Amino acid sequence: MDVLKDILDNLNDSIIILDSVGQIVLYNNEALRIQNSISEKPIRIGDHFLEMVTQERKETVAEILKTVKNHKKPYKNFAEYNTPSGSKVFLEISFVPVFGHKRELKYINIITHDITPRKIFESKVMAVAADVKNLIENANAIILSVDSLGYIVEWNSQCAQITGFHKDDIFCKKLSEILVKECNTPLFHDLMSAVLKNHAIGNYELPIQTKDGSEIIVIFSATPRTNTHGQVIGATLVGHDITELTEYRRSMENLVQKRIAELQQVLKKEKEVIEMKSRFVSIASHEFRTPLSSIDFATNFIKQNAGTIGSKKLNEKMEVIEKQVNYMSHLLDDVLIYSKNEAGKIQLIPSNICLDNFFRSVVKEVACNTKRSHKICLSTNQLHGLVTDEKLLRNIIINLLINAIKFSPGREELFLIIQDLESHIAITVRDEGMGIPEDEMGKIFEPFVRGKAVDAIQGTGLGLSIVKKSVELLHGTIQVESTPGKGSVFTVTIPRIELI
Ligand code: ADP
Repeated sequence: MDVLKDILDNLNDSIIILDSVGQIVLYNNEALRIQNSISEKPIRIGDHFLEMVTQERKETVAEILKTVKNHKKPYKNFAEYNTPSGSKVFLEISFVPVFGHKRELKYINIITHDITPRKIFESKVMAVAADVKNLIENANAIILSVDSLGYIVEWNSQCAQITGFHKDDIFCKKLSEILVKECNTPLFHDLMSAVLKNHAIGNYELPIQTKDGSEIIVIFSATPRTNTHGQVIGATLVGHDITELTEYRRSMENLVQKRIAELQQVLKKEKEVIEMKSRFVSIASHEFRTPLSSIDFATNFIKQNAGTIGSKKLNEKMEVIEKQVNYMSHLLDDVLIYSKNEAGKIQLIPSNICLDNFFRSVVKEVACNTKRSHKICLSTNQLHGLVTDEKLLRNIIINLLINAIKFSPGREELFLIIQDLESHIAITVRDEGMGIPEDEMGKIFEPFVRGKAVDAIQGTGLGLSIVKKSVELLHGTIQVESTPGKGSVFTVTIPRIELI
């Protein structure tokens, strides 16, 4: 028995052995220690076990002993005591019946395990868990968790606030079905498949839809959730609503794009101006040189033959000078009109003009200025009056007719067809001259641009740009069709509208 006592005294658990009527026959040191810590009642061999049990537990323990005796089965029970010193003691108590060879009850072993440290640990863990839960619930960030199938298992108050979906709305629902629009599903699946492969993902922008149908942009960090074996069982997503930031970023990007486009436009314009200036210099120097040398030649001739020159020769030379001066002043007129228009200085002066008289006088003027080199065939329907800027309309017709004549060398006629219609006047100038090569068609209305094959024909490259601007100022349209070698057709329409 002493050996048995020694063994029992060295155990960590408390052992108390009762006989079949419940009297204590043996107990070990741990039993003594626990008894001393929870009660002032001593533990004594021969006493009935119930005598040492505290008043509050007496009834429960009596019931347990009875159950163990009757059912002849072990019974486990937990007890919580307040020690006289004020601390708590948690016990796990097993009542184990021991039988004789005829299955009669001989002893009841009461084995008590002090689980106070475990309970303290458990309650600490619970407190930490409660803290964490609280933190998650009230965090100033979207925090949600899903299981491996994507069903939502965690949803904090920020989620509810930002998305408008409350816990009840999302219970047993898949995150993808609730928050992710169909067009963004691939983005979401990429995120989830990476996390479920145990990769943590940071700064992942995902558009999500809210309960009211609007879309917000959330930047997520996603981490895998694992069980105690380290297997991934879902994901936790922490996110911030960056919609405003994204919108701001986008508006800034758009602004930058707009500024770049504006800058490019300015640069393009500047480049065009530089190109235009150099084209002007080369054309002007070329176009002025010929008349100047003709004038120079004529004046020298007059000077050298001052005493001998007859009046016929003198008149001839004077005519040459006059013609060249006229041509140069015509050139300067063009440059002046062009630069006035560029500076936005052309002012519209509307007046009511009689179209019939107007076209006849223009045809006469052009025929006279071009020494009737071509017949201008004018055909019209019934013409009425038109309120327009006469000077601009004159510019248009004269330039088109002179071009038709200039670029139809060797031809005899060209056609001016006027149609007075209800809403507009349609003017067509058709020639059967050299035509315009296809690759030049896109540029002919630009200032100082001349065809490659027209070097031998006088011109500044300003005529059509003046025509186009004049048509625009009168709110009209201009079109051109041309076949090289066969001729060109320019069609202008001038609407009957009030000019402002
Ligand atoms: P310019 O007549 O001084 O050359 P324009 O601006 O009037 O300048 O015309 C630009 C270019 O368009 C001309 O150089 C010529 O190549 C082409 N062009 C204009 N009108 C005609 C036309 N009726 N037939 C053929 N080419 C034309």
